[in-house]
Amino acid sequence: MGTVLVINSGSSSIKYELIDPESGEVHAVGLIERIGESTGHARHTRDGRTAERDDPIADHGAGLRLVIDLFNEHGPELAAAEVIGVGHRVVQGGERIVEATLIDDDVLTMIEELSPLAPLHNPANATGIRVARELFPDLPHVAVCDTAFFHDLPMPARTYAIDREVAAAHHIRRYGFHGTSHEYVAGRTAAMLGRDDLKQVVLHLGNGCSASAVVAGRPVETSMGLTPLEGLVMGTRTGDIDPAVVFHLAREAGLGVDEIDDVLNRRSGLKGLSGHNDMREVTRLAMSGDERARLALDVYTHRIRKYVGAYAATMGGLDAVTFTAGVGENSALVREESLAGLGFLGIELDPVANRADASGERIISQPDSPTTVLVVPTNEELSIARQTRQVAESTFDG
Ligand code: ADP
Repeated sequence: MGTVLVINSGSSSIKYELIDPESGEVHAVGLIERIGESTGHARHTRDGRTAERDDPIADHGAGLRLVIDLFNEHGPELAAAEVIGVGHRVVQGGERIVEATLIDDDVLTMIEELSPLAPLHNPANATGIRVARELFPDLPHVAVCDTAFFHDLPMPARTYAIDREVAAAHHIRRYGFHGTSHEYVAGRTAAMLGRDDLKQVVLHLGNGCSASAVVAGRPVETSMGLTPLEGLVMGTRTGDIDPAVVFHLAREAGLGVDEIDDVLNRRSGLKGLSGHNDMREVTRLAMSGDERARLALDVYTHRIRKYVGAYAATMGGLDAVTFTAGVGENSALVREESLAGLGFLGIELDPVANRADASGERIISQPDSPTTVLVVPTNEELSIARQTRQVAESTFDG
């Protein structure tokens, strides 16, 4: 059936995975980091064996050539892997790239033109695409956007109550992010429960955190907005905040736009409150009596609880709540504290199942809980690989 090379190109890193879209088997996974710095680093894992390299990596072109070298040296051989396409993660697809899309020059231009809406991500995604197309000119390249799943959110959910003309002129709307993860996890939840009519909340809790409300497989709300800053409390980002804080900081503290951006995006969230952005450290400190870490955890879980309640109201009911990503998959404490007191929504967590030393997809609510609570490890790469295969096959057919 062939394999797909999935590429996630960041400003100074390239993550890649060679994956069988049918079975989900990962043939190789790797990371090129610190591109453009004096100390580059590469890691390539195949069959549980990891090869590492420390060499300066000048740019993304050099980074991708290194990826090819790593495949040549440590396998599997790309020429023999029957690669049917390259799937690229793109953060902002705007109003125009609303499904997995075959990349041609026009699509690449569109991705670049969307950079003002995602200045940290889209330029890096576009660079990765450009060099990958040069290195793999005979393969179809497919863009899978973080925003795509949410592009047709109902109008009341996607519209900000801001001057219509200002919004239209500057493309201001709720776009939503982590869409590939929300779509994948919502789909797995429906499959596990054997129902396609679910009213569900998906909680993606990683370094970035987002919630979505999904009815019968379609999203009706999501917490991230024009940018990934809105919504839940995150590792270093505020999530929801009174926008007047921005004016206040400008007028009273004399901060410029970039400084305020830095405070809200990189010096806030768990880190701003406790000094640490890693939930493991925040939890450890909170448990040992550190009051700042305790408050950080409380603010984090309070926000999640508020969203679960709001989304249950939006959907007029709740059948399932699913946790995913680094914190959601691993922190029993965060899951327990986030859902505390939600018995009135039919949520009855099973403390033993929640605390069990388990990985993989699982139910953590009591068997007779009216609302099912689950943990589903996200797999954005597999989802990108499957969407890439679909587009690649229709290209060959067409
Ligand atoms: P990203 O958003 O970068 O993809 P992940 O989804 O991998 O990140 O989530 C990373 C975060 O998951 C880490 O910052 C850490 O706080 C959290 N995490 C990982 N393992 C655990 C754990 N066992 N307990 C609590 N938090 C964890």
